[in-house]
Amino acid sequence: LRSVYTKQADLSATTPDGFEVRIHLNAGLSADTDIAHSSGADGVGLYRTEIPFMMEDRFPSEEAQFNIYRKVLQSYCGRPVTMRTLDVGGDKSLPYFPINEDNPFLGWRGIRMTLDHPEIFLVQIRAMLRANLGMDSLNIMFPMITSISEVDEALRLTRQAYREVSEEIAAQGNDQLLARPKIGVMIEVPGIIYQLPALASRVDFISVGSNDLTQYLLAVDRNNSRVAELYDSYHPAVLLALKHIFDQAHKCGIPVSLCGELAGEPAGALLLMAMGYRQLSMNIHNIPKIKWVIRKARLDQSKQVLDQVLALESPNDVRRVMSQHLETLG
Ligand code: PEP
Ligand code: MG
Repeated sequence: LRSVYTKQADLSATTPDGFEVRIHLNAGLSADTDIAHSSGADGVGLYRTEIPFMMEDRFPSEEAQFNIYRKVLQSYCGRPVTMRTLDVGGDKSLPYFPINEDNPFLGWRGIRMTLDHPEIFLVQIRAMLRANLGMDSLNIMFPMITSISEVDEALRLTRQAYREVSEEIAAQGNDQLLARPKIGVMIEVPGIIYQLPALASRVDFISVGSNDLTQYLLAVDRNNSRVAELYDSYHPAVLLALKHIFDQAHKCGIPVSLCGELAGEPAGALLLMAMGYRQLSMNIHNIPKIKWVIRKARLDQSKQVLDQVLALESPNDVRRVMSQHLETLG
């Protein structure tokens, strides 16, 4: 079975009735760059920059970050790489930057922290832009966006970094192209779902972080074992929200992908595909399995199953219907 799966990695994720889903990779470890070629991914949908930050004992310098990001972009040979700006706080802490709060998931995390420390944000964006010099495969994404004002401030700082770096390059007599990366935001905080038109007029793409979106929609700490049974991305409310996000994004004409764990589960991937999502980003180990199931599942059948699922009232009912459906695929 393993070898069947491994061969799947080289094939495209195209349904028997001819619809393709682009499969991207969630990455962050330097080991990922060594296996970039064999991953079967069309690009990196989420590069978690906090992971290399966690390996250090102080904030990495611009030069150190530049070297890491350059290696990542080079190892994917021109395929798109979406780098997320530092997403610490919540469950992710840096040993050299402790954040002590009673309620860290509702606290100072992601873009909230980096906008309060523009020097950290600017150094990171500068390193990313410099790493992309002459390449043009970089996208940049902001985590934990709650308000339009955060997007505006992050965009302002990004433009400032772009101006600085392009002037420095010109002053060095370097005529290589400094591309303007596409900019996106993560949809993780439920409130921002109601402001998609305002987002769409500002950024190039959105990417749904279904792990955090599930936690915040259901008010369940994603790491608390006591309430682990309540944390469920197959909760009908979560599925309805994911469908609503796709429909709204489509209406606003903004590209949308999804990079939470749900995309790496066969049932989740089929439901997302049926909702309309055509780009899913996942852990490398899930890629062969997800390609296999998409290649087996006709889109029209998946849409029928989605209609059935969206009328259900409990996560357990959804899981039951989905496992019956997956059995019929083999
Ligand atoms: C998410 O929240 O779904 C996500 C992809 O980000 P992370 O898991 O790194 O918080
Ligand atoms: Mg998240």
